[in-house]
Amino acid sequence: MNIVYLSDEVHQMVDLAETVGKIKGVDKVVPFSPPLTQEQCSEIVNRKEDLFIVVAGNPQHSSSERHSFFPVELANMGTNPGHVGFVDLNHIFLASADGVSAANRLQIHVRLTLVKLDHSKENPRVDTVPLKKLFIVGEPAEETFVEKLQKAGVELCGIWTGKPFDLTGHPAGLSGMPGQYTVTLQNVDESLESIQVGGMVVFNDGLSEQQKQYLLDGFLFSSKDKQTYIQPSHLRLSQAMKVVHSEQESRRASDFFVRFLDLSNVSHFVEDPHIDHEKCGLCGTCVKTCMFHASKLNYTKEETGVAEIYPNHCIACGNCVTACPTQARDLPAYPRDFFSSAWKELKTFQAGTDGLKILVIYCEANGHNAIAHLADNGSSVPSSCLFLRIRCGGMVDTQFIPDSFQAGFDGVAILVCARDECNNSVGSLDMERRLNLYRKVMQVTGMETGRMRIIPVHSGKFETVGDSLQQFADFLDGIKQDRKMFGTMTS
Ligand code: SF4
Ligand code: SF4
Repeated sequence: MNIVYLSDEVHQMVDLAETVGKIKGVDKVVPFSPPLTQEQCSEIVNRKEDLFIVVAGNPQHSSSERHSFFPVELANMGTNPGHVGFVDLNHIFLASADGVSAANRLQIHVRLTLVKLDHSKENPRVDTVPLKKLFIVGEPAEETFVEKLQKAGVELCGIWTGKPFDLTGHPAGLSGMPGQYTVTLQNVDESLESIQVGGMVVFNDGLSEQQKQYLLDGFLFSSKDKQTYIQPSHLRLSQAMKVVHSEQESRRASDFFVRFLDLSNVSHFVEDPHIDHEKCGLCGTCVKTCMFHASKLNYTKEETGVAEIYPNHCIACGNCVTACPTQARDLPAYPRDFFSSAWKELKTFQAGTDGLKILVIYCEANGHNAIAHLADNGSSVPSSCLFLRIRCGGMVDTQFIPDSFQAGFDGVAILVCARDECNNSVGSLDMERRLNLYRKVMQVTGMETGRMRIIPVHSGKFETVGDSLQQFADFLDGIKQDRKMFGTMTS
């Protein structure tokens, strides 16, 4: 049985029976008031053969500590992420003009999630025992943070401010899994020091731009030794790696770590790409395209498969999946088959009040943070925008663009981390190169090349994304008006 849990915000706005109840493949709809209760969590984890979809705030961006803890609970109870899908409320309400539009978006996203779950593969499971030690960068946003954690027996260490975290050295990298990270610091004499911690908190707001650059670059964007990296939005690494921007987030983070670091065991479902060794032609493209040194050809393993992935380095960005010429790789959380079916669902999107249809593809890092920021602040986004989440810009396949035009979209916007903030700069450059080549194809076939736009997102400037999307909609509207005089848009 496939069950959809719908949070309050949705069922107050749309007619459940008419929208979700009628979707093929949905057997039951359960309204709930977030966060999910213990009973609802148990129902989900105890029925492993079913598919569940939770339509609510994104667990990675939720104001409820219980809700943000939900993925940890699910994993710890043995539920493979391939059995549970989330529909982010922001996908439904951020650009909605009315209930009709919200219902249309809800249907599309529930159907997309069903398709995705249908194609998801089982991920290997790894268990760790969390270390009761937390690494802190920057000044805690509220006093009770330190008190609460120390009272719970959590040892604190970290850098900045001199009190009470006195480590020196330049951040040089972070690797591992939630509950057991290795933080690497580089001392003035260039020697490296490693610290084992269970989690990490970065207090972003108290840091000046210069401090951010000094303190955060090493962890977040690239490392000095080019061996260890972190992408805060990446689930496997990020569950216990929080970037805090406000007092509210600080309280949520302390509640999370008091519970999380007290667990006797944490399960992780590894999201690295699957490799089909039968299809692999040993061309080495995946090695060349992976800037994380996670992809190798290991000729000592001819019996089990030469193409290899090192899980401690892989951030599951999907760049090698897009680059592999034989389709030997696939990302369990974003399977290829999902993308080949997705546009059939996206096609059912009704145009916004401006008569346009814009597909906004966004990455899980700055792209996601911008969408969440706009929703939190009640900012307006053109009603013509429909959102599609992907892991990373490196996953954007050339084929996404013609598929979008074929599905009736007037334009495609791609929200990705600005180049100087992207920790997958190779993936990002590969994407730009692919799309620039496709621009040439658009040009020779008489299409407006501006109908595809990459919008770089800078952290701290998320509010500008709403304006960028409006400008894009205005531009597309201009083309549409011009074309009306000569004929329809080419698609
Ligand atoms: S890119 Fe694909 S075909 Fe080439 S070595 Fe890697 S997995 Fe094999
Ligand atoms: S390119 Fe990305 S997904 Fe592929 S091995 Fe490297 S880090 Fe992992």
